[in-house]
Amino acid sequence: MTSSSSSSGPAALLARADRYYVPVYQPRRIVLERGQGSRVWDSDGRDYVDFSAGIAVNSLGHADPELLDALTAQAARLWHTSNVFVSEPPLRLAEELVVASAFAERVFLCNSGAEANEAAIKLVRKWAAAAGRPPERRVIITFHGSFHGRTLAAVTATAQPKYQHGYEPLPGGFRYCGYNDLASVEAAMAAGDVAAVLVEPVQGEGGVVPAADGFLAGLRALCTRHDALLVYDEIQCGMGRSGKLWAWQNDGVAPDILCVAKALGAGFPIGAMLVGARAAEVWQFGAHGTTFGGNPLAAAVARVAVRRLAQPELLANVSRQSAALRRGLGEINDRLSLFEQVRGRGLMLGAVLNEPWRGKAGAILDRAAENGLLLLQAGPDVLRFVPALNITDEDIALGLQRLDAALQSLIAG
Ligand code: PLP
Repeated sequence: MTSSSSSSGPAALLARADRYYVPVYQPRRIVLERGQGSRVWDSDGRDYVDFSAGIAVNSLGHADPELLDALTAQAARLWHTSNVFVSEPPLRLAEELVVASAFAERVFLCNSGAEANEAAIKLVRKWAAAAGRPPERRVIITFHGSFHGRTLAAVTATAQPKYQHGYEPLPGGFRYCGYNDLASVEAAMAAGDVAAVLVEPVQGEGGVVPAADGFLAGLRALCTRHDALLVYDEIQCGMGRSGKLWAWQNDGVAPDILCVAKALGAGFPIGAMLVGARAAEVWQFGAHGTTFGGNPLAAAVARVAVRRLAQPELLANVSRQSAALRRGLGEINDRLSLFEQVRGRGLMLGAVLNEPWRGKAGAILDRAAENGLLLLQAGPDVLRFVPALNITDEDIALGLQRLDAALQSLIAG
């Protein structure tokens, strides 16, 4: 009996997913079993080049020895304390994040991106309340095409109706503007009731769209004029992915609050909200909390991730592989004419499909997986490339070769 037909083979495992999961996901019909660097193997032993990195999470690749050592060493010592007690890894991590942040004074540790944004939204409201602003003057501006997570407040901040539909009534006090449209923000702040602007320096789920030159600086000027906080969601674009440790450093405009998750744990769940001087003292005892935030296992791994992802050699590799990926996509496009544009920053790139291919990102991803490439989309029209930041020349080349083969086979029908 082959593994595929046994009760633990991929078909049987996937049947369990179909039967027992709440069906909110539609994973590809393969079962991944192990990974090494930017390669992954499925339960049939087929290998894949990983251009997805667990949705911009496994930024040091799979099975990195130093991450593994940090996790196992901590696992043998102490797993969990809660925040009623402390242990060394999260204390050290908080200090290291403050130092690496280049703006923050304090850190709140949590478990995911949505929780980090939820914390930021609550902190903004408390900050405005502490300044004596009534609830109707605590509006938070977010942007069309944004994605901030799935908790009720984060999904309300996410200005995309498809994520909100059916969850009404949504929390109030959010106002949506056009991304890269400063005039729309200026108009939305004119009434003087805005407490914060929450923005991704590179939009991820919304199609991999970087902030235009001057956009973040313009938001900062408006926030200063209207006494509002500037909050960056760097959950996807932070931690070195843009070629700098923080995506905002490409524009040199620091925030008041920054949310990070995904690659912070390089594959182990952890999130953090970093707070600068303007709001660092607003939350006092009892204002917010979480059981698992600052978990020693997660913190021990994140300490390695923060140190490694800030290294100049690693960031240089991001720029180098970004150029190689853009070059390779350009060559594919010269032959196959599929992309209207390749955009993004560093190793967060989006290839925008042109007219005959629009809406077909899902079909391309299926065909890519059949050809040994794990790829993502950002909506139906954009192929999203977010490989590990330490990906090698060889794996970039092989991934591009497999993408080329997948596209050619699709074109051939
Ligand atoms: N913010 C951004 C920019 C994201 O890309 C995501 C997830 O894709 C989130 C927030 C939500 O993070 P999580 O899925 O860890 O809750």
